[in-house]
Amino acid sequence: MSRENRSYRVLIVDDDPSLGRIMAYFLQKQGYDTVLMNTARTALAEIDRLLPDLVLLDVTMPGMSGIEMLTKLRQSDRTRLLPVILNSALDRPEDIVTGLRAGANDYVTKPIDNAILLARVETQLKMATLLFELDSQRQLLDKLAAYDSLTEIYNRRSLMEVLDAQLQQARTHDRNLSLLMLDIDHFKQINDTHGHLVGDQALRGFAHLLEKLTRKADTVARFGGEEFTILMHGINSAQAIEAAERIRRTLENTALDCDGSTVKITVSIGISTFSADHPADSHTLIGEADRALYRAKLEGRNRVCLYDPNCTSVFAGTPAPPG
Ligand code: GH3
Ligand code: MG
Ligand code: MG
Repeated sequence: MSRENRSYRVLIVDDDPSLGRIMAYFLQKQGYDTVLMNTARTALAEIDRLLPDLVLLDVTMPGMSGIEMLTKLRQSDRTRLLPVILNSALDRPEDIVTGLRAGANDYVTKPIDNAILLARVETQLKMATLLFELDSQRQLLDKLAAYDSLTEIYNRRSLMEVLDAQLQQARTHDRNLSLLMLDIDHFKQINDTHGHLVGDQALRGFAHLLEKLTRKADTVARFGGEEFTILMHGINSAQAIEAAERIRRTLENTALDCDGSTVKITVSIGISTFSADHPADSHTLIGEADRALYRAKLEGRNRVCLYDPNCTSVFAGTPAPPG
C-alpha cells in the first residue's frame, strides 16, 4: 500500500484515545503510517503539515464536531478532495445521510469491524489515486490547449482569450492596449541553410528572448509558424514603437545559439493600438497589426511599422538580406 514508495498516511481524529490507538495499531500492522489527534481543532490546524492521504474522523467530539471539521475541509481548495471516512456510534439512517451530505466519502458505524474498516480505507485510497490521476490528466490537457508545444509559450488560442479579456479591461478603465505582430525575416532560408531542427531551436530561442525582453505583464504568444505576438496593456502607440524598436535592435545584434549552430535573425514588427480614439475590437486590432507588418516587410524587413491608414514604417535597421 505505498504511494510513490512511501506508506499512505492516515490521520485518525477521535476524542476517545483508546479507540483511536486501537485503529492506529491495526492500520500500522497493515503497513499504514498513522497520526492520531484527539480534537478536530488541532487536526485541522495541523492538516497542511501532516498531509494525510485519508482521514478517519469521529463524528461526536467536544468542541468542534467531526461534521464541522469535514465541512471546513471541503471548503478549502487543498483538502476539497481529501478522502474522509466518518466513524460514529450514531447509526440511524439520518445520521449517515447527514455525514455523507456534509461531504464524507464513507461512513462506518461503531463498534468498528477491522476487516470492514480496512476494505473501506483501501477503496477510498484507490478512488483518490484515480481522482488524482484524472486531475493530472486534466491539468496536462489544459496545458496542451493553452501552450505551444515547441516554444512552450502561449498559443494563438490563449492570445485570443487574453486579448478579449484585456480589451474589456481597456474599455472599462479607459486604458491603451498595444498589439505587436512579429514575423521573422526570411525564416525559410534558415531552415534551408541549417535544417529544420536548427530552425526549431531558433524559434525556441526567439520565443524565450521575447519573454526576456518584455515585462511580466506583457503576453507573448506564438501566433503560428514564425509569427509571434506581444500584447502590452497600458501601452500607447509611442511606447509600443519604443518597445518594438528595442526588441528589433536587440535581435539584430544577437546571435542565437542553436545546437552548436549560430543563427542570426532579424524581425519585422507591425503594431496596432486600442485607445479611446480608436476603440477597435480584437479582430480589427489583429488585422491592423498584420497590415502594418505586411508594410514593414514590403519596405525592406527588419523594421517596425505602426498601423495607420497609410502605414509607413517608423524604424528600420539594415534591410535583411534574403538568406
Ligand atoms: P518573410 O521574411 O517574408 O517572412 O520570409 P519567410 O521565409 O520568413 O516567410 P515564409 O512565410 O515564406 O516562410 C516561413 C517559414 O517558416 C517556412 C516554414 O517552413 C517555417 N516554419 C514555420 N513553422 C516552423 C516550425 O515550427 N519549425 C521550423 N523549423 N520552421 C517553421
Ligand atoms: Mg510568416
Ligand atoms: Mg517570416
